[in-house]
Amino acid sequence: CGIVGYIGGKPAAPILVEGLKKLEYRGYDSAGIAIMEEGSIEVRKAKGKLAILEEKLGDTAPTGVMGIGHTRWATHGKPSDENSHPHQDCWGDFAVVHNGIIENFQTLKESLIADGHRFTSETDTEVLAHLVESFYEGDLEAAVRKVASVIEGSYAMAFVCRREDDKIVAVRKDSPMVVGLGDKEYFLASDIPAILNHTRQTYILNDGEMVILTADSATVKDARTGEPIEKEVFEVKWDA
Ligand code: GLU
Repeated sequence: CGIVGYIGGKPAAPILVEGLKKLEYRGYDSAGIAIMEEGSIEVRKAKGKLAILEEKLGDTAPTGVMGIGHTRWATHGKPSDENSHPHQDCWGDFAVVHNGIIENFQTLKESLIADGHRFTSETDTEVLAHLVESFYEGDLEAAVRKVASVIEGSYAMAFVCRREDDKIVAVRKDSPMVVGLGDKEYFLASDIPAILNHTRQTYILNDGEMVILTADSATVKDARTGEPIEKEVFEVKWDA
């Protein structure tokens, strides 16, 4: 299971798939990516090896310059195309990838369904997509903070929003996540090998930290208070 993210000037899809390959050692049963394409979010995902996702992408891979990707190790819901990440809300306005377990997903899911949300997978993760949509008031960062405040469990999760097509917002708790600092491009990953082809300058996120990535900044904040955190750059000296 692994997470990757990219925002910068290059087509994101090949960078995300390459990053996911570097995380294959963690084990997985399915894979997927979400790419921002001129105001809409293109999701491609499939049960099975990354080769199957690559085949699915073929010549018609989205060409957008930001996106998120995931390899899944199923905990809730069998391995299947539908249960693969990224997951989306009912309107396709948001996409999320998640490693870990949302312990209170059942209660959250029931109340979301009572509010009219329709679910398309059996995963715990899908509540994150519906929650962020229901909390959204024009500020993805604030909505993600709200999501983090109502969920219990372990997570490294990354969100994109169609209406804020210039940023990725990610949070972690009890599941690892690092940020790669490039030149006018930024990377997100569960582990350092996924970004080493691109940069050696990183932020290692701690529990309860969130990061907001744009094409020219990586801002780390306290996920509870929203206060900015002064992060030290960790330079990777070894080779993967
Ligand atoms: N609990 C989530 C699922 O079953 C995420 C699993 C993972 O960490 O890959 O979809």
